Amino acid sequence: MDITAYIRYNQSDQTRLERIMYYVPVPLYRKNVSIRRGECIKNSAYEGNKQIFYMEFSHTSCLCPQCHTRTSRIKDYRQQEILLAWLDDVPVYASFHKRRYVCPTCGHSFYPATPLVQPYQRRSQRQQLAMIRECARKQSFTDIANRFHLSVTTILRYFDCISYSKPATLPAILSLDEFRGNAPGQKHQVVVVDPARKTVLDILPQRDTQQLIHYFATYPYAMRKTVNYVVMDSSALFRLVAQHMFPNAVIICDKYHIVRQVIWAMENVRKRIQPPWDHHRLYFKHNKKILTKPGCNLTNDELVCLQEILAQSDELRKAYALKECFLQYYRCPQKQSARYFLRFWLDLVQASGLAEFKSLLHSFTDWFDGIINAIRLHYSNGFMEGHNNKIKVLKRVCFSIRNFHRFRNRILFMDAATHSKRGTSHLNVPLTQRSLF
Ligand SMILES: [Zn+2]
Repeated sequence: MDITAYIRYNQSDQTRLERIMYYVPVPLYRKNVSIRRGECIKNSAYEGNKQIFYMEFSHTSCLCPQCHTRTSRIKDYRQQEILLAWLDDVPVYASFHKRRYVCPTCGHSFYPATPLVQPYQRRSQRQQLAMIRECARKQSFTDIANRFHLSVTTILRYFDCISYSKPATLPAILSLDEFRGNAPGQKHQVVVVDPARKTVLDILPQRDTQQLIHYFATYPYAMRKTVNYVVMDSSALFRLVAQHMFPNAVIICDKYHIVRQVIWAMENVRKRIQPPWDHHRLYFKHNKKILTKPGCNLTNDELVCLQEILAQSDELRKAYALKECFLQYYRCPQKQSARYFLRFWLDLVQASGLAEFKSLLHSFTDWFDGIINAIRLHYSNGFMEGHNNKIKVLKRVCFSIRNFHRFRNRILFMDAATHSKRGTSHLNVPLTQRSLF
């Protein structure tokens, strides 16, 4: 059965009324305003492809906005129609006589606030909330606009009322990373995260030493001293910023980035030695995951395959052994043994003579303490990497968002929505702003 037709013709007025109750804002219930048929909703009709509920609100006194005299004197009436919701592609409107009051003291005429809608608006508050709430999901503004039968500009206008300022305080553990964004003229943007609480603190438009120092310098020195740990990938830029701005911070080199570098080095060895243009090459390529997977997780079939691959080359065997040895390194629980193990591993790299691992010698010696700290402290950028993936998905479904401020607000809004337990508590701040409605 066609659902639209069902709603139009087969539902009794009472059922339709109950269904529409959902769209009537909560204050109506709180104020014990009766919404029984004949009192608030006078009548309903399906006219010209839309469902209209004729409503009437009780006549109360209110304050004059100019001289604050209480008045209940009515000057005249205006007919107003507001959109409550879309039910199965049928717009549902509330139509009511809007009273215009006149002040007996100063003669000023004005409209009192109605429970359904804010002044100068044609859509119900609940409808506007629903629109903004949709922005927390990974979809483009065009998708939201289509769902609500609106233009993209209208959705953007509502969304642009949301603005996040920079965080008021800095956490004890800070995490920095970059991602490829859409800010004009800039290749990379920086994301600042609190890994302990798993929240995104801010998105910065530029990956630039001066800009980052300038940003963190806006926080007082006493606050910056309370940052105990800074987690980052092996980026000299972030390290410089952390050393300058957070005097008490221990720098931690993220585990994921370090392991990835070792795996990349091994992959480069595989690419170099794999035989060109024959079936062996494909065999190597198709089974490359067996090489990257930790040896202890391999199945029996995979072990047989691994043996076959490693039998092809001495160099690949060495590279694989170095990778497996490094993965073992992360299982060292003690700082002292980790220090010893990492030195031992670097000696092995030196002895192996593999060109692909040479660059690791320099970089790991440079980040020696950072890598040791990663073992000791167990803080990582794991949450950040997952979050960067979400940003990537958002960028893809939106076909990129060129306006950096909108992009930043959208990311922070999505993150706030993930953390709010009730799903809408993050909306409290922007919705109290008058500018939104
Ligand atoms: Zn007045």
